[in-house]
Amino acid sequence: MTRLQVMLQWQPAIAVVRLSLFAMGCFAAGLQAADLPNIRVLATGGTIAGAQASATGYGYKSGVYDVNALLSAVPDLDQMAIITGEQVANIGSQDMNDEVWLKLAKRVNAVLAEPGINGVLITHGTDTLEETSYFLSLVTKSDKPVVMVGSMRPATAISADGPGNIYNGVAVVANPRATGKGTLVVLNDTIHYARNVVKTDTTSVQTFQSLNRGPAGVVHTGRIEWFEPMDKKHGKASEFSVDGLDKLPRVDVIYAHANMSSDLIDAAVRNGAKGLVVAGVGDGNMTTPALDALTKAARSGIVVVRSTRLPEGIVLRNNEVNDDEKGFVASGELNPAKSRVLLQLALTKTSDPVRIQKMFYEY
Ligand code: ASP
Repeated sequence: MTRLQVMLQWQPAIAVVRLSLFAMGCFAAGLQAADLPNIRVLATGGTIAGAQASATGYGYKSGVYDVNALLSAVPDLDQMAIITGEQVANIGSQDMNDEVWLKLAKRVNAVLAEPGINGVLITHGTDTLEETSYFLSLVTKSDKPVVMVGSMRPATAISADGPGNIYNGVAVVANPRATGKGTLVVLNDTIHYARNVVKTDTTSVQTFQSLNRGPAGVVHTGRIEWFEPMDKKHGKASEFSVDGLDKLPRVDVIYAHANMSSDLIDAAVRNGAKGLVVAGVGDGNMTTPALDALTKAARSGIVVVRSTRLPEGIVLRNNEVNDDEKGFVASGELNPAKSRVLLQLALTKTSDPVRIQKMFYEY
Protein backbone atom coordinates (compact mmCIF):
# COMPACT_ATOMS: atom_id res chain seq x y z
CA MET A 1 0.00 0.00 0.00
CA THR A 2 1.14 3.50 -0.78
CA ARG A 3 2.02 5.57 2.24
CA LEU A 4 1.46 9.23 1.85
CA GLN A 5 3.00 11.73 4.18
CA VAL A 6 1.96 15.34 4.25
CA MET A 7 4.76 17.59 5.39
CA LEU A 8 4.25 21.25 5.93
CA GLN A 9 7.10 23.52 4.95
CA TRP A 10 6.89 27.25 5.50
CA GLN A 11 8.40 29.67 2.99
CA PRO A 12 8.15 33.46 3.21
CA ALA A 13 4.43 34.26 3.02
CA ILE A 14 3.40 30.96 1.49
CA ALA A 15 2.44 27.65 2.94
CA VAL A 16 4.00 24.79 1.09
CA VAL A 17 2.72 21.26 1.33
CA ARG A 18 4.68 18.43 -0.08
CA LEU A 19 3.08 15.09 -0.73
CA SER A 20 6.04 12.80 -0.48
CA LEU A 21 6.19 9.20 -1.45
CA PHE A 22 7.75 6.53 0.66
CA ALA A 23 6.61 3.32 -0.95
CA MET A 24 8.46 3.00 -4.23
CA GLY A 25 7.24 0.51 -6.79
CA CYS A 26 3.67 0.54 -5.54
CA PHE A 27 2.09 2.69 -8.20
CA ALA A 28 -0.85 1.18 -10.02
CA ALA A 29 0.65 2.20 -13.38
CA GLY A 30 4.01 0.77 -12.41
CA LEU A 31 5.60 4.22 -12.38
CA GLN A 32 8.51 5.09 -10.10
CA ALA A 33 8.57 8.44 -8.30
CA ALA A 34 11.40 9.56 -10.62
CA ASP A 35 9.06 9.11 -13.63
CA LEU A 36 6.30 11.22 -12.17
CA PRO A 37 5.81 14.84 -13.18
CA ASN A 38 6.38 17.59 -10.60
CA ILE A 39 3.27 19.71 -10.28
CA ARG A 40 2.84 22.87 -8.21
CA VAL A 41 -0.65 23.63 -6.91
CA LEU A 42 -1.37 27.34 -6.39
CA ALA A 43 -4.47 27.83 -4.23
CA THR A 44 -6.52 31.03 -4.31
CA GLY A 45 -9.72 30.13 -2.43
CA GLY A 46 -13.28 29.76 -3.74
CA THR A 47 -16.01 27.27 -2.99
CA ILE A 48 -13.57 24.43 -3.58
CA ALA A 49 -11.96 25.58 -0.31
CA GLY A 50 -15.32 26.48 1.24
CA ALA A 51 -17.09 25.10 4.30
CA GLN A 52 -20.67 24.82 5.53
CA ALA A 53 -21.70 24.74 9.18
CA SER A 54 -22.91 21.14 8.54
CA ALA A 55 -23.00 18.83 5.51
CA THR A 56 -26.74 19.34 5.05
CA GLY A 57 -26.71 22.99 6.06
CA TYR A 58 -27.69 25.71 3.62
CA GLY A 59 -25.09 28.38 2.88
CA TYR A 60 -21.31 28.31 3.20
CA LYS A 61 -18.20 30.45 3.27
CA SER A 62 -15.62 30.40 0.43
CA GLY A 63 -11.87 30.16 1.01
CA VAL A 64 -11.78 28.40 4.41
CA TYR A 65 -9.51 25.37 3.80
CA ASP A 66 -5.88 25.75 2.82
CA VAL A 67 -4.02 24.00 0.04
CA ASN A 68 -2.85 21.25 2.39
CA ALA A 69 -6.42 20.31 3.31
CA LEU A 70 -7.59 20.43 -0.33
CA LEU A 71 -4.88 18.07 -1.54
CA SER A 72 -5.19 15.61 1.29
CA ALA A 73 -8.90 15.13 0.46
CA VAL A 74 -8.03 13.67 -2.96
CA PRO A 75 -7.16 9.95 -3.12
CA ASP A 76 -4.26 8.57 -5.16
CA LEU A 77 -2.83 11.89 -6.37
CA ASP A 78 0.59 10.47 -5.55
CA GLN A 79 0.16 7.91 -8.33
CA MET A 80 0.01 10.67 -10.94
CA ALA A 81 2.44 13.31 -9.73
CA ILE A 82 4.73 14.67 -7.08
CA ILE A 83 2.83 17.64 -5.81
CA THR A 84 3.87 20.75 -3.91
CA GLY A 85 1.36 23.41 -2.92
CA GLU A 86 1.36 27.13 -2.24
CA GLN A 87 -1.32 29.41 -0.87
CA VAL A 88 -1.39 32.52 -3.10
CA ALA A 89 -4.70 33.89 -1.72
CA ASN A 90 -7.77 32.52 0.05
CA ILE A 91 -10.73 34.55 -1.20
CA GLY A 92 -14.10 34.09 -2.84
CA SER A 93 -13.44 34.82 -6.50
CA GLN A 94 -16.15 37.50 -6.48
CA ASP A 95 -13.42 39.48 -4.69
CA MET A 96 -10.79 38.76 -7.36
CA ASN A 97 -8.95 41.92 -8.38
CA ASP A 98 -6.05 43.22 -10.47
CA GLU A 99 -3.63 42.95 -7.53
CA VAL A 100 -4.23 39.22 -7.02
CA TRP A 101 -4.17 38.66 -10.81
CA LEU A 102 -0.73 40.26 -11.07
CA LYS A 103 0.57 38.35 -8.02
CA LEU A 104 -0.79 35.04 -9.35
CA ALA A 105 0.47 35.59 -12.91
CA LYS A 106 3.96 36.46 -11.67
CA ARG A 107 3.96 33.39 -9.43
CA VAL A 108 2.80 31.15 -12.31
CA ASN A 109 5.63 32.45 -14.53
CA ALA A 110 8.21 32.06 -11.74
CA VAL A 111 7.10 28.51 -10.88
CA LEU A 112 7.03 27.40 -14.53
CA ALA A 113 10.55 28.79 -14.97
CA GLU A 114 11.80 26.30 -12.32
CA PRO A 115 13.52 23.53 -14.34
CA GLY A 116 12.10 20.74 -12.15
CA ILE A 117 8.48 21.82 -12.50
CA ASN A 118 6.32 20.23 -15.22
CA GLY A 119 3.15 22.26 -14.79
CA VAL A 120 0.84 24.19 -12.52
CA LEU A 121 -2.65 23.51 -11.15
CA ILE A 122 -4.58 26.50 -9.77
CA THR A 123 -7.59 26.17 -7.46
CA HIS A 124 -9.97 29.12 -7.81
CA GLY A 125 -13.57 30.19 -7.19
CA THR A 126 -15.91 29.71 -10.11
CA ASP A 127 -17.51 33.19 -10.23
CA THR A 128 -14.59 34.86 -12.03
CA LEU A 129 -12.76 31.75 -13.22
CA GLU A 130 -13.48 32.65 -16.84
CA GLU A 131 -11.72 36.00 -16.39
CA THR A 132 -8.68 34.86 -14.40
CA SER A 133 -8.06 31.94 -16.75
CA TYR A 134 -8.23 34.19 -19.84
CA PHE A 135 -5.91 36.72 -18.16
CA LEU A 136 -3.37 33.98 -17.35
CA SER A 137 -3.60 32.55 -20.86
CA LEU A 138 -2.51 35.94 -22.21
CA VAL A 139 0.45 36.56 -19.88
CA THR A 140 1.97 33.12 -19.19
CA LYS A 141 5.41 32.83 -20.76
CA SER A 142 5.72 29.06 -20.93
CA ASP A 143 4.37 26.09 -22.86
CA LYS A 144 4.13 24.00 -19.69
CA PRO A 145 0.54 23.09 -18.76
CA VAL A 146 -1.47 25.48 -16.59
CA VAL A 147 -4.83 24.08 -15.46
CA MET A 148 -7.44 25.78 -13.30
CA VAL A 149 -10.05 23.96 -11.25
CA GLY A 150 -12.85 25.02 -8.93
CA SER A 151 -16.00 23.47 -7.59
CA MET A 152 -19.66 24.34 -7.29
CA ARG A 153 -20.13 22.63 -3.96
CA PRO A 154 -18.11 23.38 -0.82
CA ALA A 155 -15.57 20.88 0.48
CA THR A 156 -17.99 19.85 3.25
CA ALA A 157 -20.95 19.09 0.92
CA ILE A 158 -22.55 15.62 0.76
CA SER A 159 -21.39 15.19 -2.80
CA ALA A 160 -18.50 17.63 -3.07
CA ASP A 161 -17.19 18.03 -6.63
CA GLY A 162 -13.85 19.59 -5.67
CA PRO A 163 -11.76 16.43 -5.08
CA GLY A 164 -12.82 14.92 -8.43
CA ASN A 165 -12.04 18.16 -10.21
CA ILE A 166 -8.60 18.34 -8.56
CA TYR A 167 -7.91 14.71 -9.50
CA ASN A 168 -8.87 15.34 -13.15
CA GLY A 169 -7.01 18.66 -13.13
CA VAL A 170 -3.79 16.96 -12.01
CA ALA A 171 -4.30 14.30 -14.71
CA VAL A 172 -4.54 17.05 -17.35
CA VAL A 173 -1.45 18.89 -16.06
CA ALA A 174 0.43 15.58 -16.11
CA ASN A 175 -0.66 14.82 -19.68
CA PRO A 176 2.07 15.64 -22.22
CA ARG A 177 -0.59 16.72 -24.74
CA ALA A 178 -1.60 19.60 -22.45
CA THR A 179 1.73 21.23 -23.37
CA GLY A 180 1.37 24.42 -25.41
CA LYS A 181 -2.42 24.52 -25.08
CA GLY A 182 -2.39 27.61 -22.86
CA THR A 183 -4.41 27.91 -19.68
CA LEU A 184 -7.08 25.21 -19.41
CA VAL A 185 -10.10 24.96 -17.10
CA VAL A 186 -11.23 21.54 -15.85
CA LEU A 187 -14.58 21.01 -14.11
CA ASN A 188 -17.22 18.30 -14.18
CA ASP A 189 -15.18 15.97 -16.43
CA THR A 190 -14.74 18.61 -19.15
CA ILE A 191 -11.61 20.44 -20.34
CA HIS A 192 -12.02 24.00 -21.67
CA TYR A 193 -9.72 26.53 -23.28
CA ALA A 194 -9.55 29.65 -21.10
CA ARG A 195 -10.60 31.88 -23.98
CA ASN A 196 -13.83 30.02 -24.62
CA VAL A 197 -15.06 28.98 -21.20
CA VAL A 198 -17.97 30.75 -19.48
CA LYS A 199 -19.97 30.07 -16.33
CA THR A 200 -23.60 29.53 -17.34
CA ASP A 201 -25.47 28.33 -14.24
CA THR A 202 -25.56 29.85 -10.76
CA THR A 203 -25.31 26.60 -8.80
CA SER A 204 -25.27 23.49 -11.02
CA VAL A 205 -22.07 21.42 -11.26
CA GLN A 206 -22.62 21.47 -15.05
CA THR A 207 -22.08 25.20 -15.27
CA PHE A 208 -18.95 25.70 -17.39
CA GLN A 209 -19.38 25.64 -21.13
CA SER A 210 -17.38 26.67 -24.18
CA LEU A 211 -20.42 28.10 -25.88
CA ASN A 212 -19.34 29.11 -29.36
CA ARG A 213 -16.70 26.47 -30.00
CA GLY A 214 -17.24 23.52 -27.71
CA PRO A 215 -14.81 22.09 -25.15
CA ALA A 216 -11.12 21.25 -25.54
CA GLY A 217 -11.71 17.71 -24.39
CA VAL A 218 -13.13 15.45 -21.71
CA VAL A 219 -11.50 13.80 -18.72
CA HIS A 220 -13.05 10.96 -16.84
CA THR A 221 -11.32 9.74 -13.67
CA GLY A 222 -8.04 10.92 -15.12
CA ARG A 223 -8.54 9.47 -18.63
CA ILE A 224 -8.40 12.17 -21.28
CA GLU A 225 -9.80 12.63 -24.78
CA TRP A 226 -8.67 15.81 -26.59
CA PHE A 227 -10.84 17.57 -29.17
CA GLU A 228 -10.00 20.56 -31.39
CA PRO A 229 -6.81 22.59 -30.96
CA MET A 230 -6.99 26.31 -30.04
CA ASP A 231 -6.16 28.58 -32.96
CA LYS A 232 -6.08 31.90 -31.09
CA LYS A 233 -2.84 33.36 -29.71
CA HIS A 234 -1.92 32.63 -26.08
CA GLY A 235 1.07 31.84 -23.90
CA LYS A 236 4.45 32.37 -25.55
CA ALA A 237 2.83 33.72 -28.74
CA SER A 238 1.10 36.47 -26.73
CA GLU A 239 2.59 39.99 -26.79
CA PHE A 240 1.28 40.75 -23.29
CA SER A 241 3.35 40.53 -20.13
CA VAL A 242 2.95 41.25 -16.42
CA ASP A 243 6.68 41.91 -16.00
CA GLY A 244 7.12 45.32 -14.40
CA LEU A 245 3.36 45.88 -14.11
CA ASP A 246 2.01 46.82 -10.70
CA LYS A 247 -1.45 47.86 -11.84
CA LEU A 248 -3.77 47.49 -14.81
CA PRO A 249 -5.70 50.23 -16.64
CA ARG A 250 -9.27 50.82 -15.48
CA VAL A 251 -11.86 49.29 -17.81
CA ASP A 252 -15.56 49.35 -16.89
CA VAL A 253 -18.34 47.13 -18.23
CA ILE A 254 -21.70 48.81 -18.89
CA TYR A 255 -24.81 46.66 -19.28
CA ALA A 256 -27.26 47.69 -22.02
CA HIS A 257 -31.05 47.43 -21.70
CA ALA A 258 -34.27 49.00 -22.96
CA ASN A 259 -34.44 52.73 -22.17
CA MET A 260 -30.67 52.83 -21.41
CA SER A 261 -29.45 56.36 -20.65
CA SER A 262 -25.95 57.77 -20.94
CA ASP A 263 -25.62 58.27 -17.16
CA LEU A 264 -23.46 55.23 -16.33
CA ILE A 265 -21.23 55.86 -19.35
CA ASP A 266 -20.72 59.48 -18.26
CA ALA A 267 -19.98 58.31 -14.70
CA ALA A 268 -17.37 55.81 -15.92
CA VAL A 269 -15.68 58.51 -18.00
CA ARG A 270 -15.71 60.96 -15.07
CA ASN A 271 -14.18 58.28 -12.82
CA GLY A 272 -11.19 57.82 -15.10
CA ALA A 273 -11.98 54.70 -17.15
CA LYS A 274 -9.44 54.22 -19.93
CA GLY A 275 -11.64 51.69 -21.65
CA LEU A 276 -15.34 50.86 -21.75
CA VAL A 277 -16.94 47.55 -22.66
CA VAL A 278 -20.64 47.57 -23.47
CA ALA A 279 -22.60 44.41 -22.78
CA GLY A 280 -24.85 45.36 -25.66
CA VAL A 281 -28.26 44.04 -26.62
CA GLY A 282 -28.24 41.66 -29.61
CA ASP A 283 -25.21 42.15 -31.83
CA GLY A 284 -23.62 44.68 -29.43
CA ASN A 285 -26.31 47.34 -29.81
CA MET A 286 -27.54 50.06 -27.43
CA THR A 287 -29.93 53.02 -27.33
CA THR A 288 -29.16 56.17 -29.32
CA PRO A 289 -28.31 58.23 -26.19
CA ALA A 290 -25.86 55.52 -25.06
CA LEU A 291 -24.37 55.29 -28.55
CA ASP A 292 -23.89 59.06 -28.65
CA ALA A 293 -22.18 59.08 -25.24
CA LEU A 294 -19.85 56.26 -26.30
CA THR A 295 -19.04 58.03 -29.57
CA LYS A 296 -18.06 61.10 -27.52
CA ALA A 297 -15.96 58.92 -25.18
CA ALA A 298 -14.16 57.28 -28.12
CA ARG A 299 -13.40 60.70 -29.64
CA SER A 300 -11.81 61.72 -26.32
CA GLY A 301 -9.40 58.76 -26.48
CA ILE A 302 -11.25 56.17 -24.38
CA VAL A 303 -11.31 52.79 -26.09
CA VAL A 304 -14.86 51.49 -26.55
CA VAL A 305 -15.49 47.79 -27.13
CA ARG A 306 -18.92 46.56 -28.19
CA SER A 307 -19.65 43.12 -26.74
CA THR A 308 -23.02 41.47 -26.09
CA ARG A 309 -25.11 40.45 -23.11
CA LEU A 310 -26.14 37.33 -25.05
CA PRO A 311 -24.45 34.03 -24.20
CA GLU A 312 -23.57 33.01 -27.77
CA GLY A 313 -22.64 34.47 -31.14
CA ILE A 314 -20.12 36.87 -32.59
CA VAL A 315 -20.36 40.66 -32.35
CA LEU A 316 -19.80 41.71 -35.94
CA ARG A 317 -17.87 44.83 -36.91
CA ASN A 318 -19.83 47.49 -38.88
CA ASN A 319 -23.03 45.44 -38.87
CA GLU A 320 -25.68 47.67 -37.28
CA VAL A 321 -23.18 50.13 -35.78
CA ASN A 322 -20.61 51.89 -37.97
CA ASP A 323 -17.51 51.03 -35.93
CA ASP A 324 -15.15 52.54 -38.51
CA GLU A 325 -16.83 55.92 -38.26
CA LYS A 326 -17.15 55.89 -34.47
CA GLY A 327 -13.71 54.43 -33.73
CA PHE A 328 -15.15 51.45 -31.84
CA VAL A 329 -13.86 47.90 -31.44
CA ALA A 330 -16.13 44.87 -31.98
CA SER A 331 -15.54 42.08 -29.45
CA GLY A 332 -16.10 39.15 -31.82
CA GLU A 333 -16.60 36.03 -29.68
CA LEU A 334 -15.46 37.57 -26.40
CA ASN A 335 -18.17 38.18 -23.79
CA PRO A 336 -18.06 41.39 -21.72
CA ALA A 337 -15.97 39.90 -18.89
CA LYS A 338 -13.34 38.49 -21.28
CA SER A 339 -13.41 41.65 -23.42
CA ARG A 340 -12.56 43.60 -20.29
CA VAL A 341 -9.53 41.36 -19.62
CA LEU A 342 -8.20 41.71 -23.16
CA LEU A 343 -8.84 45.46 -23.21
CA GLN A 344 -6.98 45.94 -19.91
CA LEU A 345 -3.95 44.16 -21.37
CA ALA A 346 -4.31 45.83 -24.78
CA LEU A 347 -4.24 49.25 -23.07
CA THR A 348 -0.83 48.40 -21.59
CA LYS A 349 0.41 48.47 -25.21
CA THR A 350 -1.70 51.04 -27.09
CA SER A 351 -4.93 53.02 -27.10
CA ASP A 352 -5.28 52.88 -30.89
CA PRO A 353 -8.66 51.22 -31.61
CA VAL A 354 -7.42 49.89 -34.94
CA ARG A 355 -4.56 48.00 -33.28
CA ILE A 356 -6.86 46.87 -30.49
CA GLN A 357 -9.43 45.56 -33.01
CA LYS A 358 -6.63 43.44 -34.50
CA MET A 359 -5.91 42.06 -31.01
CA PHE A 360 -9.58 41.13 -30.61
CA TYR A 361 -9.32 39.15 -33.85
CA GLU A 362 -6.04 37.48 -32.85
CA TYR A 363 -6.57 36.59 -29.18
N1 ASP B 1 -18.50 32.54 -4.98
C1 ASP B 1 -17.64 31.41 -5.16
C2 ASP B 1 -16.32 31.90 -5.73
O1 ASP B 1 -16.28 32.26 -6.87
C3 ASP B 1 -18.29 30.43 -6.06
C4 ASP B 1 -17.49 29.19 -6.37
O2 ASP B 1 -16.29 29.09 -6.16
O3 ASP B 1 -18.10 28.23 -6.91
O4 ASP B 1 -15.37 31.93 -5.03
